[in-house]
Amino acid sequence: MSPCRKARVIAIDGPAGSGKTTVGSELARRLGYLFFDTGVVYRALTLAVLRLGISLADVEAIARVASELNIRVEQPNQSDGRPYTVFLDGEDVTWQLRSQEVDRAVSPVSAIQAARAALLGVQRQVVAKGKVVVVGRDVTTVVAPEADVKVFLDASPEERARRRYAEAAARGEAVTYEDVLSNVLERDRIDSGRETAPLRRAPDAIYIDSTRLSVHEVVEQLMRVICCDGQSQG
Ligand code: C5P
Repeated sequence: MSPCRKARVIAIDGPAGSGKTTVGSELARRLGYLFFDTGVVYRALTLAVLRLGISLADVEAIARVASELNIRVEQPNQSDGRPYTVFLDGEDVTWQLRSQEVDRAVSPVSAIQAARAALLGVQRQVVAKGKVVVVGRDVTTVVAPEADVKVFLDASPEERARRRYAEAAARGEAVTYEDVLSNVLERDRIDSGRETAPLRRAPDAIYIDSTRLSVHEVVEQLMRVICCDGQSQG
């Protein structure tokens, strides 16, 4: 990574609730870049699989759905806190992608190698256009390993669960903090332990622990690295 030129591709990986979406969308807004949250691709696949009543054990059927997935991600069309609007077969499913059912099933679905392979091309096409902040679990290692700036954003599991719980409560969902924490821990386990493209820190990624940092502080730190108008860090 060369921190002293304005980066065209910024890739951020990290576990659930580490702040990738909030930080990534704010960075993209400040740079005038596209924000691409690759998690929505896996969430949309999971929603499609659940709606079709496909068993999570039916790897072939899930891979088939992945290869036919008709998903569109656009600028937010409502000011209800959404960072983007996601359409699945033309239907706005933005908030349905955040349901507990999807939260529970998304990591097992994402661990299926053939499904990941089917979804890789579309993610790389978006990144190849440049001027993009891309976030996920394998964007620094698989989707965009050539990114100009790579970041691994982390936070303690308790803090990550607290953030996800606050978001769900604000949306009026009837969940407990304990349920959210156990989902976060289970997703960590599956996402980091899977064979294909596990969540891991790329050797050249900047590591940021956001447990005690505000969104503003993380964004400022990254802006210094990206635009090189102050000290950089590796
Ligand atoms: O980031 P988000 O919580 O929306 O991601 C949902 C799930 O999608 C993750 O828990 C992970 O299983 C999967 N995912 C992935 N690779 C990515 C992005 C997300 O496997 N690049």
